Amino acid sequence: MAKKGDIVIDIEKCKGCEVCLAACPNDVLAIGSEVNRKGYRYAVKVNSDCIGCANCAVVCPDAVITVYREKK
Ligand code: SF4
Ligand code: SF4
Repeated sequence: MAKKGDIVIDIEKCKGCEVCLAACPNDVLAIGSEVNRKGYRYAVKVNSDCIGCANCAVVCPDAVITVYREKK
């Protein structure tokens, strides 16, 4: 079974560039309808299917995603 994971997005630093959306194999990420203090619509989690692969964190140009993996 694949390792389960989770992510935390630093929404105030997200610029809504959408790069992370395409990188996720499980469509965990989407751009929400709310804006942060800088006026950017930021990335949000839309399901709990994160496997902790860290693709999103690697591609994020602003390194605002932190990945957690469930310990087995
Ligand atoms: S760690 Fe992997 S599975 Fe989880 S949100 Fe990022 S790209 Fe998707
Ligand atoms: S790649 Fe980073 S800055 Fe771009 S939308 Fe995703 S979390 Fe935000």
